[in-house]
Amino acid sequence: MDAVPDRPHPHPLTEGAPSPTYVDAHLHLLALASRLVGVEVAPPAVVSIPTLQERLRQHARLSPPGQWIRGWGYDDFVLGRHPTRHDLDAVAPHHPVRLVHRSGHASVLNTLALRLVGLSRYADDPPLGLVERDTEGEPTGLLLGLEEWLDQRLPTLPHDALVEGLRRANALLTTQGIALVHDATPTNDLERFHLLSWARRQGLLTVGIVFLPGITHLETFARAGLRPGPAGNLTIGQAKILLSPSTQGRLPGVAEVVEQVAEAKGRGWAVAIHAVEKEAVALAVEALHRAGPPPGPQPHRIEHASECPPRLVEALRALGAWVVTNPLFLYYSGPRYRATISPEHLPFLYPFGSLWRAGVPLAFGSDAPVTLPNPALGIRTAVERKGYDGVALCPQEGLPWEVAVWAHTAAGWKVAGLEEGVLV
Ligand SMILES: [Zn+2]
Repeated sequence: MDAVPDRPHPHPLTEGAPSPTYVDAHLHLLALASRLVGVEVAPPAVVSIPTLQERLRQHARLSPPGQWIRGWGYDDFVLGRHPTRHDLDAVAPHHPVRLVHRSGHASVLNTLALRLVGLSRYADDPPLGLVERDTEGEPTGLLLGLEEWLDQRLPTLPHDALVEGLRRANALLTTQGIALVHDATPTNDLERFHLLSWARRQGLLTVGIVFLPGITHLETFARAGLRPGPAGNLTIGQAKILLSPSTQGRLPGVAEVVEQVAEAKGRGWAVAIHAVEKEAVALAVEALHRAGPPPGPQPHRIEHASECPPRLVEALRALGAWVVTNPLFLYYSGPRYRATISPEHLPFLYPFGSLWRAGVPLAFGSDAPVTLPNPALGIRTAVERKGYDGVALCPQEGLPWEVAVWAHTAAGWKVAGLEEGVLV
């Protein structure tokens, strides 16, 4: 192991170190704020369609008719199926309703909401994503990979709800001992940057923020004189690129991704590439390999890298990029992985141990609102690899404790090119 050069060293926790000390290196602040003021439909609160309906009925009773109701985190595996618009209509016919799947990459709308966003039996599908339809051609309510399209059509959260949501998000983060978060939302634009900066000035958010702008917004940032590194009361991080076969219909070609990385580099940015499936991870690795090293102190990073067979671990070792990943997925989805993924592929799922032994630097995040931030549980899961049912998934891929702690503390400063503990 000592033969591997340039491996970051575990950071020993000093006795009596001041808290907060954790870093959540991948989350989505505004979506978390929205989840915290919406109807809670994630397990363990909701484990059946009737309990989901009861929650929604109660929420609708307290909201003026016509006001959007949003919920986050329903789990089709736990529920046995996706809810339909009829399930939602039965308890909230007078409010437009959008419930987001726990992955953040699918939504269910009720009939009123479908009508408001312009989806019907007669309307064409949006260019990307999938509208599930019944045999008559009527939308069932389930929309796959249409999150950005929906975000553009739904009203933004009312100001009071936004403020309350940010307050709750900050309370959750600080009580978990988190000092710094990285907001890795692919739709991060200049307006969101200003909004989060405002929330910091107002004291609504006291955690430090590394803001990763979406790849399509770099020109706007450049024109506003903003570059990677400290920028006012936030830090600007890597440019976020989303590689997802389910939301884009297919993966782009490698030349297209190389071009995006090269353009980002030309403007001074390293990149953070969202890649979950092994095909996407392979594409990210190949594109980064061809595009060459980052232009400044921030390294390139791959987000999630969920499926990582040995040849990709090897390729990552050669690349020198970071992997920013999510141990809590093993905790919350471990039982589902074991039930749905073939046994020969399970060892390649979040192979933290193999990545670390190969010398690939790791940082951890919750991907909130996908999971709620809980670094202590994340660290424990990275070591023991146990799901909520207590069954471990490939325990040989567990990390030593000090490495797991490092990935949720010092690593989160280092991957942003920041000096540890120094907030802007
Ligand atoms: Zn994410």
